[in-house]
Amino acid sequence: MMDAEAQMQFLYTLRSKGVTDTRTLTAMEKVDRGLFVKGLFAERVYEDMPLPIACGQTISQPSVVGLMTQALNVQPRDKVLEVGTGSGYQAAVLSQLARRVYTVDRHARLVREAQSAFDAMGLVNITAFTADGSYGLPDQAPFDRIIVTAAAEDPPGPLLAQLKTGGIMVVPVGQSDAVQSLIKVTRTPNGFDYDELRAVRFVPLLEGIGQE
Ligand code: SAH
Repeated sequence: MMDAEAQMQFLYTLRSKGVTDTRTLTAMEKVDRGLFVKGLFAERVYEDMPLPIACGQTISQPSVVGLMTQALNVQPRDKVLEVGTGSGYQAAVLSQLARRVYTVDRHARLVREAQSAFDAMGLVNITAFTADGSYGLPDQAPFDRIIVTAAAEDPPGPLLAQLKTGGIMVVPVGQSDAVQSLIKVTRTPNGFDYDELRAVRFVPLLEGIGQE
């Protein structure tokens, strides 16, 4: 668990990097990132940096989690889909703000480990699946909010189709590892509005289920 000083430093860093939304900051205060990173890098868990997790993946930088959460503007009644469970940290933050969070990852091991962290925290409004999230979750669609935490070449069509009118999707988009931008897509009655938020760097959105 974080001591009071580490907590203050963590929140100060988030604010200084542009995470100013009170609900987002409160949600991040309640979720101990230490539950989601194990092993070698555990001592750096409260620093504002991405860290390696199992299956060659990464847990995002806290300030990026904060900026994405803030851009998503989740409401208390919302049903949210996350593509890219990874460690489960982003899903746990969203679960503080939404009615229900569905999260999918292509690696069964990551889903299992994230589920134990959700259980340890007593988070009962998250449902985690192993699946190729590029196709969304047709059985649970439509969603009020969709967050993709791996970079796609374009916002995946099935995800756009599963977004409610008035809904928001946040997705890193880019042709390469090096150059990606975080895009906020809003579904209007007439189509989709696109806003470019900032440059980011995510692992790629890959096809199919991962081999363990
Ligand atoms: N949100 C995570 C970080 C995600 S890292 C966290 O808070 O820790 C990106 C994740 O996307 C990886 O775990 C990777 O396995 C997953 N991923 C990549 N392509 C995917 C796909 N098509 N469907 C589901 N998950 C995918």
